[in-house]
Amino acid sequence: MAIERTFSILKPDATRRNLTGAINAKFEAAGLRIVAQRRIHMTRAQAEKFYEVHAARPFYGELVEFMTSAPVVVQVLEGENAVAKNREVMGATNPENAAPGTIRKEFAVNMGENSVHGSDSLENAAIEIAQFFKPEEIVG
Ligand code: ATP
Ligand code: MG
Repeated sequence: MAIERTFSILKPDATRRNLTGAINAKFEAAGLRIVAQRRIHMTRAQAEKFYEVHAARPFYGELVEFMTSAPVVVQVLEGENAVAKNREVMGATNPENAAPGTIRKEFAVNMGENSVHGSDSLENAAIEIAQFFKPEEIVG
């Protein structure tokens, strides 16, 4: 195992319901350290670029609308095996399939409004971190 960094977003459904502290507590309890964090209102261009891998999917328009509908918190999480650990703490994309105790099981509204994003690979983590943070903003 190695110390990794992964990219995380607390999505609009989480900021709207004042769940940012409760979700951060889950990350920290799992050994993930928040080494960078900023609250932003994503522009349409930022959301379209961030989710461009899903551009051909039927839910893309709805996803971009949602991600720009209210502020989000963008974060860098650091820890042992951080990419997989974060995905584990988040739970399955569809909260109905998420394991008990996971963020999505406890907090997600539905498949679209599912409270958190987490990078799905170390390679994508580096790309996503670079979209939102300068190296000097990450204090490990
Ligand atoms: P994320 O990339 O946000 O961490 P994920 O990796 O679990 O989530 P993806 O397959 O990458 O899931 O989908 C990206 C996001 O698109 C999901 O988190 C969800 O908000 C939305 N989404 C995915 N599938 C659907 C769907 N069938 N209907 C509505 N929204 C969806
Ligand atoms: Mg994904």
